[in-house]
Amino acid sequence: MDRETDIPESHPRYESLLTRHRIEAGVEKGITSKQGLIAQGRGEAFDYLLGEETTESADGAARAAAAHLLLAERPVLSINGNVAALVPGEVVDLANAVDAALEVNLFNRTEARMEAIAEHLREHGATAVKGLAGDGEIPGLEHARGTVDADGIYAADVVLVPLEDGDRAQALAEMGKVEIVIDLNPASRSPQVADVPIVDNVMRAVPNITAHAQTLEGTERESLERIVAEFDADEALERAETRIRTGRF
Ligand code: ATP
Repeated sequence: MDRETDIPESHPRYESLLTRHRIEAGVEKGITSKQGLIAQGRGEAFDYLLGEETTESADGAARAAAAHLLLAERPVLSINGNVAALVPGEVVDLANAVDAALEVNLFNRTEARMEAIAEHLREHGATAVKGLAGDGEIPGLEHARGTVDADGIYAADVVLVPLEDGDRAQALAEMGKVEIVIDLNPASRSPQVADVPIVDNVMRAVPNITAHAQTLEGTERESLERIVAEFDADEALERAETRIRTGRF
């Protein structure tokens, strides 16, 4: 029995029930917005069609993401209400593995929710959390949507934006950043504009990037650069869509 949820781990829908429980708890704690519940429902439908497993191509994307993050000078992991509710400890582990900053970055920014998420991340081991300064602007977005930290996402060379809104993903790409997106819907705009789209559930994708980063740790730059160069974003999206439509790959 899982102490967090009282769901037996042998339950055939264990992962899905755990995910729902975490999102619900996130809303109750003031971390996740009600919109986040809708986003989760949308994601679940795609996950069901993907077979609720990490596909080979999503695994390749996670490996390319790990290589990008290890090569980066100023990597930042962007955290929203769903990500904080679903994988708080896992994003802290990833930040430690690749020496990245964590930045709270909300579509519906309120000071109370920013604080609650930062606190939640600290409870899960984060020592520094960015996003509260809000002294930078992503060009091309109306004020509240574009607010970031000047020494965080604004200055980052590689950003991981799980479950990002399409407009903001596009604006970040236009700033010339290497953008890694985790999203279960390959037709959503965010994975479409990403340098590395990972079509997988954040619950599986984040620990998987960390595992790849740990394996690649100490690998020479040239090999990491080769992994990055060999990754094909269009092919990854195409394979994900084929999996969803036909069950193949
Ligand atoms: P866009 O503006 O990019 O076209 P959208 O309007 O479809 O996107 P939203 O509803 O804002 O997107 O965000 C939800 C997105 O997050 C969906 O694409 C959904 O598939 C994805 N998503 C939801 N839950 C998860 C999860 N647990 N793991 C990965 N992706 C998820």
